[in-house]
Amino acid sequence: MSKPRPKETGKITIAIDGPAGSGKSTVAKRVAAALGILYLDTGAMYRAVTLKALRAGLSLTDEVALAELAAATVLEFKQTADGTYHLFMDGEDVSTEIRSVPVTQAVSAVSAVPGVRAVLVQQQQRIGRQGGVVMDGRDIGTVVLPQADLKIFLTASLAERAHRRWRELRAKGCLVTKEEVEEDLERRDAFDAGRPVAPLKPAADSIILDTTALTIEEVVAKILALSSSFWAKQEG
Ligand code: C5P
Repeated sequence: MSKPRPKETGKITIAIDGPAGSGKSTVAKRVAAALGILYLDTGAMYRAVTLKALRAGLSLTDEVALAELAAATVLEFKQTADGTYHLFMDGEDVSTEIRSVPVTQAVSAVSAVPGVRAVLVQQQQRIGRQGGVVMDGRDIGTVVLPQADLKIFLTASLAERAHRRWRELRAKGCLVTKEEVEEDLERRDAFDAGRPVAPLKPAADSIILDTTALTIEEVVAKILALSSSFWAKQEG
């Protein structure tokens, strides 16, 4: 029997991984909207736990305290009045604050703690099991949803990623130089790729898309085409 199409069932599961600034969240959001399915930003979850740890003054090397803190945190993505999804941490909308410089600088240390990952991965898998989701992060195809229907690994040159992130930050009024942005991306990627637990890497069966010379629309179109051919294969 052929599998129903995602638009009818909302059941396709897409994993999008890649380094910082590769355009994952913008692309994932648009793909999810086009398919009419959920988008889950796992990086935002690690950022929220990091924000809470910084506010509590926890040492970023205290793995036990960080894991306990993650377990005691309620994270919810809720639609706000303008139709966009915001992340609420223990009932507080933290969508803006989790993008701050101190959180960005500390998040890789917090996300490398196995106990923190265990808590968040469990929540992500609970959502993933229901199907009908586009999830983006670093370990979605390898650890969180190894059974995903479609696994994409987005890359782009460091210079291009830094340029995109710098443009984004500047539009928000954040005064940073391109060199500073590039250093931050390089440092985070090295840390994320070098950690022993769930390092940043493509799953063996992922499709690698280099977006250096592509627009967002082109990347979205490619992923939608891959999703259609996935269903065509199921039906064929
Ligand atoms: O995606 P974003 O850049 O917001 O992620 C912030 C950080 O969260 C990453 O640099 C990484 O350390 C961590 N992260 C992770 N696993 C994920 C998603 C994000 O370790 N699935």
